[in-house]
Amino acid sequence: MVNEYDVIIFGCGPAGLQAAIHAARKRCSVLVLGRPEKSSLYKAHIENFCCVEGVKTGKELIETGIRQASGFGVEFLEEDAVKTAIREDGGFTVETESKHLSCLALIMATGVSRKGLGLKGEKGLVGRGVSYCVDCDANFYKDATVAVFGNGSAAVHGALTLKDIASKVFLITTGLDISPQLKEGLEKSSVQVFEPRKIKELIADGSLKAIVLDDGTRLDVDGLFIELGAKGAMELAAFLGVELDPERFTHIVTDKNQATNVPGIFAAGDICGLPYQMAKAVGEGCIAGISAGSYCQKLKREASKG
Ligand SMILES: Cc1cc2nc3c(=O)[nH]c(=O)nc-3n(C[C@H](O)[C@H](O)[C@H](O)COP(=O)(O)OP(=O)(O)OC[C@H]3O[C@@H](n4cnc5c(N)ncnc54)[C@H](O)[C@@H]3O)c2cc1C
Repeated sequence: MVNEYDVIIFGCGPAGLQAAIHAARKRCSVLVLGRPEKSSLYKAHIENFCCVEGVKTGKELIETGIRQASGFGVEFLEEDAVKTAIREDGGFTVETESKHLSCLALIMATGVSRKGLGLKGEKGLVGRGVSYCVDCDANFYKDATVAVFGNGSAAVHGALTLKDIASKVFLITTGLDISPQLKEGLEKSSVQVFEPRKIKELIADGSLKAIVLDDGTRLDVDGLFIELGAKGAMELAAFLGVELDPERFTHIVTDKNQATNVPGIFAAGDICGLPYQMAKAVGEGCIAGISAGSYCQKLKREASKG
């Protein structure tokens, strides 16, 4: 069977784009699947990426990345991979929403979908007071009043990080599930805990102004961090036999070449775990692109020897 592409990349975010550039520069034919506007970066404002001064919108960065990769011959298809399988000869078949494709190597860079609370107005307030990432956005809330919602260590770590930046931090939880050490740290801190409570309403006027709890308590806040952990788009990976992190099955396990346990499958970016940062996604994308390129070249050399 003729391979239509050397490398197919699932994901059009920073990890997928950087992987595409490096694989293409290793003289591989490369197709990137996925929707740019579904990248986590799309709504972000980035000011902590090395060598890029000032604040750039994620949209600007992604559009630049697509132009750059296209310049190296990378093709794009704005569709999701819906099914994939390993062929008998070790290559892969990929079904998208409209096409059947095949390739020698796959790079999984599908990011993570952040779990929300599903509250009215929540999605529209992302970047205007609602955030799913303390590491990314804490510094926007210097001397502000913020709330964190969640039950696990991510939420408590987030609240403890924020207490050194914001002037007041509330932690809303339906019930904490954390280690005794972390609980002790929380109890000794200035974080005000509301337990067991849910958030029932967001009050906004262009940006978030307050949250209302299920007992009617109103808390005036500038920011709400929803830290429920993140769920990776894992089904495709699991179907191919790719090893996932053994504790929570939310991330793909890779080696230092970004190779998974399945020959020919590489992974990069948020799907490989914390921290969810563009710099890490780009770094891992670079390595995955180079590794996939070398893998394809080796297969082709072996095939030409007969
Ligand atoms: C509000 C916000 C603010 C942020 N701020 C910062 C910041 O200031 N600094 C920073 O460094 N980071 C920040 N981040 C994090 C940063 O955006 C991510 O770490 C980065 O985008 C991860 O890149 P990625 O390529 O791994 O995944 P993503 O950028 O999420 O891209 C995933 C891609 O996979 C595609 N995809 C999903 N499923 C499939 C499928 N089945 N088939 C094909 N394609 C698929 C999607 O369409 C998307 O194109 C922020 C994130 C958010 C949400």
